[in-house]
Amino acid sequence: MSYPNTQLLINNQWQDAASGKTLPVVNPATGEKIGTVAHASTADLDRALAAAEAGLALWRNTTAMERSKAMRKAAVLLRERVMAIAEIMTQEQGKPLAEAKAEVLNGAEVIEFCAEEARRVYGRIVPSRHMGGAMHVLKEPVGIVAAFTPWNFPINQVVRKLSAALAAGCSIIVKAPEETPASPAALLQAFVDAGVPAGVMGLVYGNPAEISNYLIAHASVRKITFTGSTPVGKMLSALAGQHMKRATMELGGHAPVIVDASADVAQAVKHIAGSKFRNAGQVCISPTRFLVHNSVKKQFVEGFAAYSESLKIGNGLSEGTQMGPLANSRRVPAMERLVADALANGAKLITGGKKLPEQGAGNFYAPTVLDDVPLTAAIYNEEPFGPVASVHGFDSLDEMLAEANRLPWGLASYAFTQDLKSLHKITHGMQAGLLWINHVAGAWAEMPFGGVKDSGYGSEGGPEAIEAYLTTKSVNTLFV
Ligand code: NAD
Repeated sequence: MSYPNTQLLINNQWQDAASGKTLPVVNPATGEKIGTVAHASTADLDRALAAAEAGLALWRNTTAMERSKAMRKAAVLLRERVMAIAEIMTQEQGKPLAEAKAEVLNGAEVIEFCAEEARRVYGRIVPSRHMGGAMHVLKEPVGIVAAFTPWNFPINQVVRKLSAALAAGCSIIVKAPEETPASPAALLQAFVDAGVPAGVMGLVYGNPAEISNYLIAHASVRKITFTGSTPVGKMLSALAGQHMKRATMELGGHAPVIVDASADVAQAVKHIAGSKFRNAGQVCISPTRFLVHNSVKKQFVEGFAAYSESLKIGNGLSEGTQMGPLANSRRVPAMERLVADALANGAKLITGGKKLPEQGAGNFYAPTVLDDVPLTAAIYNEEPFGPVASVHGFDSLDEMLAEANRLPWGLASYAFTQDLKSLHKITHGMQAGLLWINHVAGAWAEMPFGGVKDSGYGSEGGPEAIEAYLTTKSVNTLFV
């Protein structure tokens, strides 16, 4: 199966880096090099910035209707190209083809939602304090956006930022992941083919720290948006603050799952086990800490283990694969360390707990369930970002809620309960930006998406997504 090399996109032209430098791209299912990605230097970033300045001047003066039209065309093109793009994504990222397809199609929905919202960027007319006067509130594009996205959802992480920025009338330079460069490139190609003018979008790859240091500090850039780990997010938001740049930070989490005594346990297992192993657990909203009432824990753990053992693991391109490899070789030792630490501290291994050597040179790690994990174990305190579920038993909902809120993060959270009082307590007591109750995880374009506490700030869904790329201008006029 073919896999394209990826260049930089500047002024709607695909081009090599000025230095000619490239980085290898590796298929995580086989360990083989499948292509290259261009590695930008400052000279390339300067060209991207000059293009973005011209792009901004053009795009902010394009009507919302026209912007919306081009965006909706991009969504149509993405849907038409879904199979080809999904195959590229699976080769570079590892996720099963069905998940890659779903990601591309979900991307089309995000574009359409933002395209519609572009036509609803309303200001306000405020009753004037003077007869013959007017007070207006205007919403304007914030300016050039620098976006930094990770490798776990190569299209989804880009499309949320790109679509909202374009809807608001901004131009944008995306630093997409070097590990998974070709599917984001295919996404931008759809926008180019849909008629988004040169300069409005740029796509670069290279050394993440060098690029972020340069773009965030650059006077032309007015807005930073980052998805990735909390430590990197804190660094970038500090830099953004130093240069007085607006920022959206979509960072890590360590999602608690409360399974109350009243829960329908079979339904809980069905929903949450599927969510756990999606994208091999490399999801910022992945359920990670399973806080289960002792009266239902045995049934929950048995059900979870049976589901884990039933999964078909393999190359994401193979028919029927339900879980692929970890996206890069760094994640395998990370899983091994966390599981070894949990076991050394008294956790019980129910299933999994090992690299899968029968899968060859790929980064395969078995779906793993640990029970009786001490709350002091590293895996209960660090985001695992992999296919490991850690269960701990409790005797009351209050204890479960206290544990859910103990950590500094607050991105996703989950609860399973059939009890009205528990439902109320959980809904109001959970410190998280996202809460799914008796439900499978899903991030829909029309719903706000973002965290609290160390999980970051700002939202990447709903109308709030566009608001993040707008500034507010108060205009007070006297007509005499
Ligand atoms: P990492 O912390 O090195 O990198 C995370 C992401 O940030 C990567 O995409 C990387 O390219 C980018 N990055 C790193 N330094 C940067 C900088 N100075 N400027 C701009 N971008 C920078 O970790 P990793 O090994 O790639 O991933 C592991 C951890 O990252 C996970 O444990 C998880 O917590 C986090 N992560 C979170 C998400 C998410 O969706 N929130 C996605 C991917 C990774």
